[in-house]
Amino acid sequence: MNDNVSRETNDFGGQFLPHPLKTRIFTVANQKGGVGKTTSTVNLAAALAEGGLHILVIDLDPQGNASTALAIAHHQGVPDIYATLVDNTPMSDVVQAVPHTPNLWCAPATIDLAGAEIELVSMLARESRLIRAITAYEAFHTEKYGQPLDYIFIDCPPSLGLLTINALVAAREVLVPIQCEYYALEGLGQLRKTIELVSDKLNTDLKLSTMLLTMYDSRTRLAQDVVDDVKANFPVEAMQTLIPRSVRISEAPSRDMTVLGYDRSSPGSQAYIAAARELAYRAEGLAPAREETVSI
Ligand code: ATP
Ligand code: MG
Repeated sequence: MNDNVSRETNDFGGQFLPHPLKTRIFTVANQKGGVGKTTSTVNLAAALAEGGLHILVIDLDPQGNASTALAIAHHQGVPDIYATLVDNTPMSDVVQAVPHTPNLWCAPATIDLAGAEIELVSMLARESRLIRAITAYEAFHTEKYGQPLDYIFIDCPPSLGLLTINALVAAREVLVPIQCEYYALEGLGQLRKTIELVSDKLNTDLKLSTMLLTMYDSRTRLAQDVVDDVKANFPVEAMQTLIPRSVRISEAPSRDMTVLGYDRSSPGSQAYIAAARELAYRAEGLAPAREETVSI
């Protein structure tokens, strides 16, 4: 029984989520800005951690929004993912435990990361610096906590530069948040081309596995049209769970919180909990939840 997660606060019907057979590494990418990459990263991560899984969020965006939402110190001088990528600082010196959320850790981004796109250009193995650091960290985590990480989420900036390429080389899956609005699918061609390029040349394991529709407003015809369009074009990848547009979701980061921490009964929280569950059960290989599974 994992006493980090109490029965009362477990929103998965009293059952812990299944562990994937292998750590699932997701790059959360869409070069379009403001579509819900960071919001989806932190809230899916928090919901999966509540389900008893070990989760790491890597903030790979110099804006540092994921670090903020997870209440992780990320002012200049804090060891961050820039130090890992550029100065070879081990990720174990960078990762912080997320306060008040057992099983969740974050590698923060400080503003230093803004320089990384340029500094990486002249470095050796510039596309694979993140995967090397992650591989070392995974071994460290398993050793320290006696179990492997179940999920790693890499929150990308809204661009397809070297930071995003590092994330794509490190990941096995790409999760693309799609905002339910006009032009939603525009620009996706470029992202898919980049994914193809990386999977051809640098990371044959990579695939665009998941699309999550965000900021869905059931009152508008347009939102429904976008949902229909995405589901028609990506019947396997599109998740069934829709994330509604919700004031609570947008307020949470200003309190340095995920929406689960801010207002867990809100429709936004419930949607991310449902999405986390759907994601966990979509894994190709699933190990049964370990002995901590409780039945209701
Ligand atoms: P960027 O490209 O700048 O990194 P992003 O893709 O990470 O942006 P977010 O920062 O997650 O996007 O979201 C953009 C804005 O929309 C934020 O202010 C966020 O709080 C708000 N937002 C995200 N999802 C929702 C939602 N479901 N309902 C209401 N507001 C939302
Ligand atoms: Mg973001």
